[in-house]
Amino acid sequence: MRPEALNSLFVEIDALEGVGPKLRRPLEKLGLARIKDVAYHLPDRFVERRAVTNLDEAGVGENIVVALTVREHRSPSGRGPFRVLAEDGAGNVCTLTYFGRASYTAKKQLPVGESRWVAGRLDQYGQMLQIVHPEHVSDSASAPLGQLREAVYPLSEGLTQGRVAGLAAQALKALPELPEWIEPGLLAREDWPDWRTALREAHKGPNAPARDRLAYDELLANALALMLVRQSNRAQRGTPLAGDGALRGKLRLPFALTGAQKRSIAEIEGDMAQPAPMLRLLQGDVGSGKTVVALSAMLIAVEAGAQAALLAPTEILARQHYETLRKMLEGTGVEIALLTGRDKGKAREAILMGLVDGSIQIVVGTHAIFQDTVEYRNLALVVIDEQHRFGVGQRLMLARKGRRTPHTLAMTATPIPRTLTLAQYGEMDVSRLDELPPGRQAIDTRVVSVERLDDVAGALARHFETGQQAYWVCPMVRESETDDIAAAEARYAALKERFGDEVVLVHGQLRPEAKDAAMERFAAGEARLLVATTVIEVGVDVPNATLMVIEQAERFGLAQLHQLRGRVGRGSEKSTCLLLRGASLSETARQRLALMRETQDGFRLAEEDLELRGGGELLGTRQSGDTPFRIASLEQIQKLLPMAHDDARLLMERDGGLSGARGEAARLLLYLFERDWGVQLLRGG
Ligand code: ADP
Ligand code: MG
Repeated sequence: MRPEALNSLFVEIDALEGVGPKLRRPLEKLGLARIKDVAYHLPDRFVERRAVTNLDEAGVGENIVVALTVREHRSPSGRGPFRVLAEDGAGNVCTLTYFGRASYTAKKQLPVGESRWVAGRLDQYGQMLQIVHPEHVSDSASAPLGQLREAVYPLSEGLTQGRVAGLAAQALKALPELPEWIEPGLLAREDWPDWRTALREAHKGPNAPARDRLAYDELLANALALMLVRQSNRAQRGTPLAGDGALRGKLRLPFALTGAQKRSIAEIEGDMAQPAPMLRLLQGDVGSGKTVVALSAMLIAVEAGAQAALLAPTEILARQHYETLRKMLEGTGVEIALLTGRDKGKAREAILMGLVDGSIQIVVGTHAIFQDTVEYRNLALVVIDEQHRFGVGQRLMLARKGRRTPHTLAMTATPIPRTLTLAQYGEMDVSRLDELPPGRQAIDTRVVSVERLDDVAGALARHFETGQQAYWVCPMVRESETDDIAAAEARYAALKERFGDEVVLVHGQLRPEAKDAAMERFAAGEARLLVATTVIEVGVDVPNATLMVIEQAERFGLAQLHQLRGRVGRGSEKSTCLLLRGASLSETARQRLALMRETQDGFRLAEEDLELRGGGELLGTRQSGDTPFRIASLEQIQKLLPMAHDDARLLMERDGGLSGARGEAARLLLYLFERDWGVQLLRGG
């Protein structure tokens, strides 16, 4: 049960004045559902404006507030903007420029002959001074002059800065006073404000101590929760599993295991033989051979008379894993089944029966394998592929499936920097596949301007003549999902026109059957080109696909590009990756793409990406799954996480599980950041 002190923060956002059904969707898009979400919806930045009596006092590029008298409306000829000519007290003329529908409001707000206070950025357009889309137009001085510093919030379509600011103000007024959970010495040393003050200050202006404190709170909550998981896991009883190697001995692998694979398997075997459940992360770059490590772990469980489950993040991946594993298991006598949300009726019943009676020893699937209706005879190992896609909470829920806590092996191909590993996985044990199987050829990576699209199509044609296949990836960013899908569809249509029916399309809004059909045609070699949004990011394995084209490569994170590129270079043929870039690039974007050309080491890319991003320019859109944090930036994570981690450990050790006064406060913190599964573990012992 959530502590009462927090109740007011968890009230639904509808309780705020002005929130009706119309705002619900845009707010939801931003993840704003409760009062607390609004309070934590922090400004991206602040605009600072200067009040000037006339335009002579203002510099071009400056944000100003000035009184202007409207002289003339100039409606657009053709598709041009709507312009309002206005004059300051000294007779300087300035154009207020509006594009699209904004002109309707402008006409009403700026009647000819009237005087208005206008806030915005002063620009020069030819010889003319102009303000494009003034941020405020008002007939009284008090509003614009009272807001010389204004927060700029992340928005979604249908919301305005004013709206969000109004909601934030209401939410901030309602904040309760909470006891301090940060260690007093640290608070004093860093000169951090208390929680409530920090939130209020963070909305008012750029305030590093306030922002840091809030980030620290989030990091501390996370560190504590992960430690609680760890502690509770140690205290659980699991099933020690000792395999006799009989089944593993029957595997007929077409290759010898790498040293890293052998070492990881030995580490896993060691963990599984213990009575405390394993909690291990297998980190390995794309193509490093995690599947066979997972299979070995699952066979250890089966050799010991138990069952194993492999959880994949998508249907496509589950299917692929199933096919791969089924082939590898031929001749071992092990029963393996695939279970996804789409299995219905008799087939599903049969699988469920097999899991209950134990005749199915390994099951592969999406989260459907952990639904309430699915029961296991003796589930002792859970392997989770592409770990970063699942929250820790979800992972724990899964762990509860067995009568005893199963061993957990989490796998990720996302090479994340060491600091983030700690943040994301806490104190999990880690095995790293830091050695690629032998014989891999480097992928020839090139950066090509989108202006050379024709050349790219030509290269594609030559590529197909050799009988090989290719991927074409279009970007997909959550904020502009509809546009991106449209762009992908358009690209697909164009490529299809040129290459005919051998082109297939896969994106997130297709029906699952359509997606599968397309994937299957591609995997079977019937289709030569797979046009896709980033759904192919993880796991897909078609060795004959040796060319990867990535459109608008600058919009992807390095880690993501690296993952995508890892789809090729899987067979014996030489592979190529073409990164299509926009016509103009920022310096950071240029550096990032150059780095892709330079190295294929995922861990290095991850570290350098962090460096480049920490260096000021953010990626524009924050990539989901990047970090498990909403408040803490990458920079703050690097700076504050080690402290939060140490502090969490001290708190756990000294108070023996959050019992003292600070421990009580820390519980509030866990609830506040919805890491309360940590608290529940504490209760359950
Ligand atoms: P990951 O899941 O880590 O991206 P996979 O397990 O899919 O990588 O392996 C990539 C490819 O490498 C597969 O085709 C697999 O059969 C092959 N492979 C795995 N281990 C080895 C090895 N030791 N030697 C040669 N090939 C290997
Ligand atoms: Mg894999």
